[in-house]
Amino acid sequence: MSTAPPEVTSYTRGVASPDEPVPFLTQRLQGFGTTIFTAMSALAAETGAVNLGQGFPDTDGPREVAEAAIAAIRDGHNQYPPLAGLPVLRDAIAHHRRHHRGQEFDPADEILVTTGATEALAASLLALTGPGDEVVTFEPYYDSYAAGIAMSGASRRVVTLRGADFAFDPAEFEAAFTSRTKVLLLNTPHNPTGKVFSRAELETIARVCIERDVVVVTDEVYEHLVYEGHEHIPLATLPGMAERTVTISSAGKIFSFTGWKIGWACGPGPLIAAVRTAKQFLTFASGGPWQHGVATGLRLGDDFFAGYTAEMASKRERLCAGLEAAGFDTIRPQGTYFATVDIRSVGASDGIEFCMSLPRSAGVVAVPTQVFYDNEDEGRHLVRFAFCKKDEVLDEAARRLQAAEEF
Ligand code: PMP
Ligand code: GLN
Repeated sequence: MSTAPPEVTSYTRGVASPDEPVPFLTQRLQGFGTTIFTAMSALAAETGAVNLGQGFPDTDGPREVAEAAIAAIRDGHNQYPPLAGLPVLRDAIAHHRRHHRGQEFDPADEILVTTGATEALAASLLALTGPGDEVVTFEPYYDSYAAGIAMSGASRRVVTLRGADFAFDPAEFEAAFTSRTKVLLLNTPHNPTGKVFSRAELETIARVCIERDVVVVTDEVYEHLVYEGHEHIPLATLPGMAERTVTISSAGKIFSFTGWKIGWACGPGPLIAAVRTAKQFLTFASGGPWQHGVATGLRLGDDFFAGYTAEMASKRERLCAGLEAAGFDTIRPQGTYFATVDIRSVGASDGIEFCMSLPRSAGVVAVPTQVFYDNEDEGRHLVRFAFCKKDEVLDEAARRLQAAEEF
């Protein structure tokens, strides 16, 4: 590599103790640094590189959804909404789950509006686990999982997803459960890999969770981004699972308004009551005007949801073709808006080094998948590119990658 990698301070590694302790920071949060998404977006801003790192769209979501939020502000809906969320939004969430997933939730006590899926995840972990408890999750995992588990004082046990289809070994999965396991934290469609868990895989997961009497928290924020040949199956719809599952989703990913930070958790009354107890002391309530907007969005017709999926499917093809033309072995995601490449195909081996130098070597920013693993060697060769960007941005990134002399 001819140019020195730019300085990036630190990023989430999910490790318990850093080499150099951060002053003032409590022990359980040592090692979390700055999230990789913030670090990589800063790197893009600093270098002027095309940012395919942090997963946020560069176009707005539906106009009528934005108009509903604007109208709510104008109409004076500017004081605290109820702790559990505005009734109009809870009704819309119930409608959305019924219409799209065939699930039934009572808006009165089985739905909780949160400040993004991030708060729903944190509140669930804080409510359901504590010191001495264990949480099982798959690696690579979305970065807030490790931090949420650490904040609750619990510890995590990871099961590695391997190969081009990011499969797991059922025996390894089962062996991760102990007498201390309280929660399984599942993400499907899965960030960063783009995997959509199949029915057979979900049946294995459900069987073990029922046998071990474990609660499941499912993160389904990419539920509307599933591509041809694959199907999003909420774990809660499998026999015996509704009563033990908290299902989380987010308007950020469904409507391309990631800055609004409106998410929700649905589940049986007693589980949601527990999560609500934690949520009320994190934020109490979540942004009122945005809730009005999202309530409008969740009742949009099927054409909106189908159009959104089709648009992202086309971007998936566009970016993957561009990455392949640049020489990368590319794993086409089954869902989400992230594509993964194996950097060994372009003569590189370490994802962090590769991503730190990519702004200078090619003028593009991507995310090293490695930082989402406890067992970093498992993901050292993988790098994630986001394709929720305008076509011309994807084309420019592809052009730059194809023109790069070396990585
Ligand atoms: N879970 C996953 C898998 C994500 O990728 C993200 C980022 N959108 C979140 C949770 C957080 O969602 P939100 O922005 O609604 O807090
Ligand atoms: N979920 C987004 C991603 O995976 C990032 C969200 C964030 O920056 N916290 O890129």
